[in-house]
Amino acid sequence: MHLTVLGSGTSHPHPKRSSTSFWLETAGGSILLDCSASSILRMAQEGLPWAELDAIWISHFHLDHIGGLAPFLFGIKHAAETRDRTKPLSICGPLGLKTLFDAVDEAGKYRLLEQGFPIEIVEVVEGDEFQILDGVAASVAKTLHKPESLAIRLEDGKRTLCFTSDTGFAPSLGEFAAGSGLFIVESSFVANKAVATHLELSEAMELISIAQPRKALLNHLYPEWDATKFEDLAANYSSPCEVLLAFDGMKIEI
Ligand SMILES: [Zn+2]
Ligand SMILES: [Zn+2]
Repeated sequence: MHLTVLGSGTSHPHPKRSSTSFWLETAGGSILLDCSASSILRMAQEGLPWAELDAIWISHFHLDHIGGLAPFLFGIKHAAETRDRTKPLSICGPLGLKTLFDAVDEAGKYRLLEQGFPIEIVEVVEGDEFQILDGVAASVAKTLHKPESLAIRLEDGKRTLCFTSDTGFAPSLGEFAAGSGLFIVESSFVANKAVATHLELSEAMELISIAQPRKALLNHLYPEWDATKFEDLAANYSSPCEVLLAFDGMKIEI
């Protein structure tokens, strides 16, 4: 697997961190993990083959995670690059995903799901196991963020990645990520978190200790991270693996 960080930030406007999105290359194809408004620009900036994207995972319906979804479908419906496309695009996420498209379509009569190639909407719930792509197994777990929010674990036969997206603290999430090659865990706040349904660094590090991944990536970083030196903060914790602080444009081999 190969990961490109498109957005390492939050909903808060920031000059260097755009909101949540990752481009993941697997043995079975490419998957976009969350689709923020900025992810459309960021895919193009990174030179990624967006017209060939195979699947999109949506973790929950906050706008810093879905703001680019309807605009992306609107874009590929009319782009020359997708005119000859025949392979399907799968969009997976929590219950309510289809309703979201219905509401947007109703507002603008876009018919976003009617494209020159098939679009499959897959709604999943806590505990589900499914094939997000041929050869890529997915399982999802509930997170303490929103009623619909889900973490996802992906395995392509060679590597495993787990992505918490936004979450409050629950040790079970560390167990869900056990042994993953890369554990992408949110660490919205440095300390003294302002919101119970997010994590601060000490909680993210505790989940990493439980999960024992081969590598961990902290993301969903509020601007308070700008005033810190991560190496100094990380030195306060004993970690079972390398822990990286995400930045837009970061690339990781898993
Ligand atoms: Zn968020
Ligand atoms: Zn959120």
